[in-house]
Amino acid sequence: MSRCLADRSIDHVLLERGEVANSWKTERWDSLRLLTPNWQSRLPGFGYEGDDPDGYRTMPETIDFLERYARVISAPVRTNTTVTSVRIKDARYLVETDQGDWRCPTIVLATGACNMARIPAVAEAVPLGIATLTAMQYRNTDQLLDGGVLVVGASATGTQLAEEIHDSGRPVTLAVGEHVRAPRVYRGRDIEWWMDRAGVLDERYDEVDDIVRARRVPSLQLAGSPERATLDLNALTARGVTLVGRFAGINDGKAQFSGSLRNQCAMSDLKMNRLLDTIDEWARRIGIDGEVEAPHRLDPTEVDDSPPLGMDLTSGAIKTIIWATGYRPDFSWLEVPVLDRKGQVRHDGGVVESPGMYLLGMQFLRRRKSALIDGAGDDARDLSEHLAAHLNGGVTASHS
Ligand SMILES: Cc1cc2nc3c(=O)[nH]c(=O)nc-3n(C[C@H](O)[C@H](O)[C@H](O)COP(=O)(O)OP(=O)(O)OC[C@H]3O[C@@H](n4cnc5c(N)ncnc54)[C@H](O)[C@@H]3O)c2cc1C
Repeated sequence: MSRCLADRSIDHVLLERGEVANSWKTERWDSLRLLTPNWQSRLPGFGYEGDDPDGYRTMPETIDFLERYARVISAPVRTNTTVTSVRIKDARYLVETDQGDWRCPTIVLATGACNMARIPAVAEAVPLGIATLTAMQYRNTDQLLDGGVLVVGASATGTQLAEEIHDSGRPVTLAVGEHVRAPRVYRGRDIEWWMDRAGVLDERYDEVDDIVRARRVPSLQLAGSPERATLDLNALTARGVTLVGRFAGINDGKAQFSGSLRNQCAMSDLKMNRLLDTIDEWARRIGIDGEVEAPHRLDPTEVDDSPPLGMDLTSGAIKTIIWATGYRPDFSWLEVPVLDRKGQVRHDGGVVESPGMYLLGMQFLRRRKSALIDGAGDDARDLSEHLAAHLNGGVTASHS
């Protein structure tokens, strides 16, 4: 957004509570690599120029990438500046920070979609003696006690943590709810390449049937490993991870898992095959069928005939529970009445209903790719145009 505003000669400032790339520096686990290939992190006027376009950035590489971008575009960032409240005063936004106040006619909320871990209510009943950790707190297996680990959630985060923890020699049980399966490589190309080229990631928020539902769809079960391996439930089962259904409750110290595991997996297989059908259809239509490998399908997800429906959490078999149940934004500092009952900002494709206020970086904000690094550019271009039109009144920002 900063680059887009600069292109339009709009004076602006970026307020950041930490340093540039703060979320990647402070909220991710050590071994994480982006699940999007290097070529895919395209920011306005800045792309990948190295010799490994299909590789996946490590955290230090991701941080370096963002720091370089901030330098290249001379982003006017005020680091170590925490916004403590935003409200309307005298027809402008009054932005209070721990480094003084700002008054401005327009404001872009780009504080991220993943500020806090989403923890299910069942967490409250976890028996004493079991350590619990969110994916945002997890850094590496040195933090864990010896013994069994229950990872709750089987999207990108949960499957990656289950694999890493299992490889450390701890028995892992993975509680599986709704998830979206995908092959890492399909017909010789990265699945992200297919989704990008076939226009799946560009699908607009006003084109989908149910945008509320689309915004809740979990991340693809993908990992960015040098081996380009598919990290689905079959891969985890083959390694020795035990699958159970959704973590539904705790009764008398006993975990209860939903009986829907088989259904969830069947649904996920179905959706994956639908995506692959869309890709095959697109490849046929544009005539590249002969240039890529032949279509193929993964084996259906294997599920035990009768996966465990319960587990005694007081037996000592499970020492740690990791909540990999998603993330949510934190707008607790926003004192403009634009939040819905769930604390989410009400908006139409990033245009918030308070004039001059914009939102960026949320799931499916304007496009399917909106919450990816690669989605920020197109959304920022669209919203900066709206913002520029709004600014035609000519009010400017001031700091005190
Ligand atoms: C585990 C994980 C893996 C991911 N992997 C990928 C991936 O492989 N590829 C990909 O494209 N995307 C990935 N994402 C999504 C990724 O987080 C977003 O693409 C990207 O970070 C969005 O950038 P952003 O600037 O909108 O949000 P953020 O990176 O979260 O940046 C928001 C910034 O706002 C600051 N901030 C928040 N509140 C305040 C406040 N009150 N005052 C001042 N500053 C504040 C934060 O410190 C932070 O620096 C992943 C996300 C997670 C959680």
